[in-house]
Amino acid sequence: MKAANVTSLDHPLIQHKLSLLRDRDTSTAGFRRLAREISLLMCYEVTRGLPVEMIPVETPLEPMMAPTLSGKKLCFVSILRAGSGILEGMLDLVPSARVGHIGLYRNPATLEPVQYYLKLPEDVGERLVVLVDPMLATGHSAAAAVTRLKEAGASQIRFAALIAAPEGINALSKAHPDVAITVCAIDRELDEHGYIRPGLGDAGDRLFGTK
Ligand code: URA
Repeated sequence: MKAANVTSLDHPLIQHKLSLLRDRDTSTAGFRRLAREISLLMCYEVTRGLPVEMIPVETPLEPMMAPTLSGKKLCFVSILRAGSGILEGMLDLVPSARVGHIGLYRNPATLEPVQYYLKLPEDVGERLVVLVDPMLATGHSAAAAVTRLKEAGASQIRFAALIAAPEGINALSKAHPDVAITVCAIDRELDEHGYIRPGLGDAGDRLFGTK
């Protein structure tokens, strides 16, 4: 299953690192490092097709016109808390990006998202926004976050996750068909507790060592 707005990255380096990330015996420090490395590689793909403009540059040998990113700086928006684990890698590659945060937790009974925090750049509407969350599970949090971003004026939004469930992709694509989704893997299914199977467990707990 793969909708037109979904890109699943099959690069061998990403796949190798993702397998290590999934391994239950990977330490907290290892998990954090791998998540950062994978998200840096993902950032390379998510930013494909950004507009560029030509500027004059003097090389040591001669002047030339060279491509540079045009328009306002990107904005990465992390869905707290686990989004922070992949924000770092994205910022390694695009250090001048602006950063927003959306705090959403899942009501364990309904699995519906509840917002407890929102801080975005004032001019988010003028920027390409890359929304990040390691796991696209039910898709409810991602869809709610995109809705908040649109309410704040954002019109160009891309979403990036490490692992998606088919259910999450369907829900996000249905709610926001204009949002391009980039993931490293689409796993088998969502279980009755809202975990992606086979997945990697709870991304937040594994990133922060809270369990
Ligand atoms: N969030 C996680 O951290 N893991 C899952 O499998 C699903 C949602």
